[in-house]
Amino acid sequence: MSEEKNVKLSSRILKALGLFLMIVFVIIMYIGFISNPMDLNLIILGMSGLFISVLLQSLAAKGVVKPEFVMISEIKCSSPKCDFHKFRLFKEGDYVYKKFGVCEKCSTGKMLIQNIIQMNEKEFKKIISNPK
Ligand SMILES: [Zn+2]
Repeated sequence: MSEEKNVKLSSRILKALGLFLMIVFVIIMYIGFISNPMDLNLIILGMSGLFISVLLQSLAAKGVVKPEFVMISEIKCSSPKCDFHKFRLFKEGDYVYKKFGVCEKCSTGKMLIQNIIQMNEKEFKKIISNPK
């Protein structure tokens, strides 16, 4: 999944740590239960540890930052003489090498989708406001 890449590394580590602690404290609790007689200290330790690890995981989940990504269609003119080039938001039905309409610049060539890319929303806004 591509979304997983967007998860901040720190929160991923925190999540993994939380999961690891959870397993450790479950084992501690289990040892407490199977001891004869039951080791109440271990059970309490396991329970409080479990609580902390759950807390840690929920904190990690809150800290997840997903940069907003948008799908962009890169459009060029099919005429080799024309340097028309622009980016626009991906529309349903867009595919690479799709030709459509007439070039906005030379009006002889056709618009050609050269590339479909995923881009950070901020980056895209920058391109839109400062076209090459
Ligand atoms: Zn053109």
